[in-house]
Amino acid sequence: MTAVEIMDLAGTDQSHANTIANCLYKKKIDDILLFPGISKKIREALNERSYPGIFRPVASEKSCDGTIKYLFRNRLGLEYETVYMPDIKRHTVCVSSQSGCRMGCPFCVTGKYGFRGNLSVQDIINQVISLPEPIRVTHVVFMGMGEPLDNIDNLLKACNILTAEWGLAISPGNITVSTVGITSGTEIFLKLSKCNLALSLYSPFPEERFRAVPAEKKYPAHRIIDIMKSYPAGKKRRMSIAYVMIGGINDTDRHLYGLINLLKDSRIRVNLLPYHSIPGDDNTSSSPDRMQYFKHELVTSGISASIRKSRGVDVSAACGLLASGLK
Ligand code: SF4
Repeated sequence: MTAVEIMDLAGTDQSHANTIANCLYKKKIDDILLFPGISKKIREALNERSYPGIFRPVASEKSCDGTIKYLFRNRLGLEYETVYMPDIKRHTVCVSSQSGCRMGCPFCVTGKYGFRGNLSVQDIINQVISLPEPIRVTHVVFMGMGEPLDNIDNLLKACNILTAEWGLAISPGNITVSTVGITSGTEIFLKLSKCNLALSLYSPFPEERFRAVPAEKKYPAHRIIDIMKSYPAGKKRRMSIAYVMIGGINDTDRHLYGLINLLKDSRIRVNLLPYHSIPGDDNTSSSPDRMQYFKHELVTSGISASIRKSRGVDVSAACGLLASGLK
């Protein structure tokens, strides 16, 4: 039964829809019988036919830098992790879009975990509204477990709820979807959403990128970048490249100039990220000096660049480490 059918049967109208959305997304009330502003008869009718869909994490771990990693288990038993990163003015939640991932990137713990299933819209939104911290989430990044564009329908619906006035009313400019690039999904996402897009690159050279991002074979990064360039970033929408830097592997001058060549004359910015070694891998991150050098050379070539700080490494909550604790 659809939500509209349930609401019809319960005797609700448009004014109830706004009240219900307010109770769920802004007040975060997890018991329909406690929804204010609706008659007892309608609350009971709704409660008989539906559930609010707010469920709490089953475990959490706190990092020494304040980052908190949560483990969720949905009604189907799928497990996935969410990361809350507090900052002075920002409250960022990094959400998962899938339990596991089918993209198989060898440098990612989630890739090694394998694909267990897509998360529903409810599972995605719940990661933002069910955290125990009494905060108003200001930023959402789809950089948790899974490839968001591989679950495009639920991703788009979730972005709609996150940004709608009747939903969480978060600015689309404060929501970033990170992808390894799926051609059709990229086009659909950029057409139907106003949120930011970040492409994980790893290397500007296809044959090297393929070794770290197998999706390169089917969805070449240069094609995804062409699509990104054809949607010029407005003042509020950011297009970016996430470039994880591995010492001696993808941080040579050849890579730097390849990157500059790929992005010149575009408004795509570059986020340089330190690499977090996964178990059984001897590679290490590029040095802070090397990362600064990359940033400097990119900026002097006219490409906006920044270095992203690692968060939550001690609790395996950083990029590429999610699913470390799952079986
Ligand atoms: S890096 Fe992203 S796309 Fe690749 S396996 Fe990990 S979660 Fe999936």
